[in-house]
Amino acid sequence: MAEAKRDYYEVLGVNKNADEAEIKKAYRTLAKKYHPDMNPGDKEAEKKFKEASEAYAVLSDPDKKRQYDQFGHAAFDGGSGGFGSGFDFTGADFSDIFGDIFGDLFGAGRTRSGGPSNGPMKGANIRTSVRITFEEAFTGVDKEIELTLKDTCTNCKGSGARPGTSPETCTKCGGKGQVVYTQQSLFGMVRNVSTCPDCHGSGKVVKDKCPECHGTGYISNRKKIQVTIPPGIDNGQSVRIREKGEPGINGGPRGDLLVEVVIQRHPIFQRNDMDVYSTAPISYAIAALGGEVLIDTVDGKVIYEVKAGTQTDTRVRLKGKGMPSLRNKQVRGDHYVTLVVQVPDHLSSEARELLKEFDKVTGDTLHAASDQTENKDKKKKGFWNK
Ligand SMILES: [Zn+2]
Ligand SMILES: [Zn+2]
Repeated sequence: MAEAKRDYYEVLGVNKNADEAEIKKAYRTLAKKYHPDMNPGDKEAEKKFKEASEAYAVLSDPDKKRQYDQFGHAAFDGGSGGFGSGFDFTGADFSDIFGDIFGDLFGAGRTRSGGPSNGPMKGANIRTSVRITFEEAFTGVDKEIELTLKDTCTNCKGSGARPGTSPETCTKCGGKGQVVYTQQSLFGMVRNVSTCPDCHGSGKVVKDKCPECHGTGYISNRKKIQVTIPPGIDNGQSVRIREKGEPGINGGPRGDLLVEVVIQRHPIFQRNDMDVYSTAPISYAIAALGGEVLIDTVDGKVIYEVKAGTQTDTRVRLKGKGMPSLRNKQVRGDHYVTLVVQVPDHLSSEARELLKEFDKVTGDTLHAASDQTENKDKKKKGFWNK
């Protein structure tokens, strides 16, 4: 992997502002041109196809695209980063993309180039979600989730056949697990390979079923799984846990478990990427005179020095007080606070007198700043009612 990687936008031949449709169109064109099924044995085409697929996997995913735009290839070179084990952005789901892109090209069913379908196959991925709080997204958190996972039936060792009997070779596909037919498509006649409907790709049919698993070869078990959620995770991002998905087929590895993180709304903080937003009330006196106020941030209260003469709705930045970067938790976004000047609606008689006195002292100065000098009394009143 010493070879320098080409820029993903360059690979797909699109500019940085390309929208989803353009990216997809560009990938489609390249995928059609370089797909291994169209170029059997052509290593250069295969390389180009893989490169384009990787670029598409990243640029078609809004989260990954954002990470790539921010960090470049460094965003995905797992290992050097601070991700916990089992967390992986590089495991792009190419099968999903082919399902999407080639779905209409090759018809239903996935094509697997080369190899018999009754060879070892990775099990399917499972998707689930977990809810966490805003604070947990800030600190990172370990969550335990419970879900039903299939395990290979021990009674029949996954064959699905009653012990002592064996599954028989499927007559529909002759044990190949695939049925092949040709179909007219955009590119002329296309050899269409699809999974055998009788044996579902296994090449074998069970006549005498295992009583434990009813011929499925699997037993479902409730399992508890630990999910390590890294600090800085954003709403909708997923954590991949390797080999906690569906069991593999014919001795293949298990699929993965993809846990989507759903972050609960926070009563005072909003978030945009790594930046946090909130509003904070300040008193009229602080706004006018300046002074220290306490502001809530994701990691506690901070003292902020309000400048004298701060207007209401002034937005200030607390640098580095936002959410941590997924890549490196030492790198943090900013916290933007909108300072809202509070006008008191109940005043003690003492305060009222002081304010009247204040108005008397400052009134002329304030109103002198205005172009309109007529109707002075009304304007004064208007100022305080604001
Ligand atoms: Zn069984
Ligand atoms: Zn079959």
